[in-house]
Amino acid sequence: MLTPAEVRGLDQSLGRQPTAQILRWAWERFGPRAAIGTSFQGAGLVMMHLAKLNRLPFPVFTLDTGLLFPETVALKRRLEEFFEFPIETLEPDLTVAEQADIHGPELWTRNPDLCCTIRKVLPLRDKLCDLDCWITGLRRQQSATRADIGVVELYAFDEASGRDIVKLNPMAQWTRDEVWNYLRQHRIPYNPLHDRGYRSIGCQPCTTLAAPDANERAGRWTGFNKVECGIHTFLPKKLDFQI
Ligand code: SF4
Repeated sequence: MLTPAEVRGLDQSLGRQPTAQILRWAWERFGPRAAIGTSFQGAGLVMMHLAKLNRLPFPVFTLDTGLLFPETVALKRRLEEFFEFPIETLEPDLTVAEQADIHGPELWTRNPDLCCTIRKVLPLRDKLCDLDCWITGLRRQQSATRADIGVVELYAFDEASGRDIVKLNPMAQWTRDEVWNYLRQHRIPYNPLHDRGYRSIGCQPCTTLAAPDANERAGRWTGFNKVECGIHTFLPKKLDFQI
């Protein structure tokens, strides 16, 4: 595994490279132990297209919380047809009904951090155990919480094992306009909810319409002091709740 000093050096050198070049480096370094994780926002779609175009057969996975919009579920099938590769679906251990039995109904209305941990963070952590490099579609322009991300980072996802993996953000420098110009130019299927004014699309109960000039993560967890689901900012050091 890479040392922190090596990661810093790679971040400086790869950070100036085109996205396709960054993806090529990941494939040569990690092969199929590097995987693209996507919730089908624009940047993830661009990366899938670049990977296909450059014959970099990364595994691709997505998280299905059981609370996604039907449009998002349908988009996954359209993308598998368009790209002609499978997209693995990660699911939580608990169904929505089982979660309601244990924690009460509509946990997202009372404790969205716990809900996100059960439905997103823990399934992701299980997946990362099988990887050496997690490739994300994070962009610096998306929000204040993402403004300082590196292109190459170390990610301490599992305190129990102490194992870090490389987190690669090859889209870090892309603007929203660049992403959408690319999608249109290559006629890549995207979530039709964007055409109805949704900026960032997550679970149905926690995604609302936002003003066109709002930041790109606007409309998520409205009414809560929460702007990230936790997969990029919070992996629980120890589980102090029952799931
Ligand atoms: S986004 Fe909302 S519904 Fe989805 S896992 Fe997080 S709190 Fe639960």
